[in-house]
Amino acid sequence: MSRFFSTKFDDLEPYVPGEQPGNIDNVLKLNTNENPFPPSKNVINALSEDEICRLLLYPDPYCTKLNETLAKELKVDFNNVYTGNGSDEVLAFCFYAFSDKGFAFPDLTYGFYSVFASLFNAETTIVPLRDDFSINIQDYDNITKNIIISNPNSPAGLFLPLDEIKKLIEKNKDRLIIIDEAYIDFGAETAVPLTKIYDNLLIIRTFSKSRSLAGGRLGAAIGNESLIRDLNTIKFSFNPYNVNRLTQIAGTEAIKDKEYFEYTRSEIIKAREYTKYEMKKLGFSVFDSMANFVFAGRHDKISGKEYFEKLRKKNVIVRYFNTPREKDYIRISIATIKEMQKFIDITMEILQEK
Ligand code: PMP
Repeated sequence: MSRFFSTKFDDLEPYVPGEQPGNIDNVLKLNTNENPFPPSKNVINALSEDEICRLLLYPDPYCTKLNETLAKELKVDFNNVYTGNGSDEVLAFCFYAFSDKGFAFPDLTYGFYSVFASLFNAETTIVPLRDDFSINIQDYDNITKNIIISNPNSPAGLFLPLDEIKKLIEKNKDRLIIIDEAYIDFGAETAVPLTKIYDNLLIIRTFSKSRSLAGGRLGAAIGNESLIRDLNTIKFSFNPYNVNRLTQIAGTEAIKDKEYFEYTRSEIIKAREYTKYEMKKLGFSVFDSMANFVFAGRHDKISGKEYFEKLRKKNVIVRYFNTPREKDYIRISIATIKEMQKFIDITMEILQEK
């Protein structure tokens, strides 16, 4: 750290992203929950030479076409949506904008929440997941802080049903409930319709998972008009051009290609169910994930860490979290069926070598 760095950041521990190897030709990359399918052909065709030439101009700071398309898709009004540079930035703005009350969230969840809280000096209450890695909303009963929950949650991929989310919102209307629906398109039920009823609910979405646009960096928030206005106040005080021209086009086209979206997500769901089934057959404990990843481990022949390291030697990258509650498991992103078959074959090889 330089001698110029503000002392208020002395305790800041930045987020460590999953490994992004430069060359993935011979690598089975199952570590950061990206989509194994390329973006829609409509996205590829829309990113024309003409559009690339227009990079000489600033993008639309209001993301008008993108936000109109997203609002229509989600059956909300234009004033109820906000888009940003990846949901990481949207989340960062939320932690910044709504920091007064502080935030409560599970002990095991998306690692960035605690980093944002620390960066923006928001107080936190950490609520342990139950032993089965589930979220029990009663554990949030006496908390007055805002609440942020990823639904489905990582690492296990378990989800909270909509009626539980409704109860959580209704229990205390003076706290903001943020539901991070990064993985919602892989089988759980969205809470977006509830944003029309409750002004203390904000939904976060990403285009990185079910829309194959992780590299485009696009995320969104859906909520009451006043919450969206707050996010815009932060954005226009920070970086009005946070969604670049090409990403605005890519996002718009990705939403419009409903057929491709349905095809890719159903392929991923099929591959996930295949992976769960095969892993269980091989003797792993497997959580009933509704996301595009599977959390598996506690095998009697191999520890989580050894399994992770052996996979790495065979050019398979998965995610390993070395915390007391997660260390017996690995988190495997779901790719195509063919790739998941390869993953299972390699796992069998590793078990046979024991
Ligand atoms: N929320 C959750 C729960 C995530 O797991 C991730 C990334 N893996 C994000 C948000 C951030 O996604 P992005 O910034 O790519 O939109």
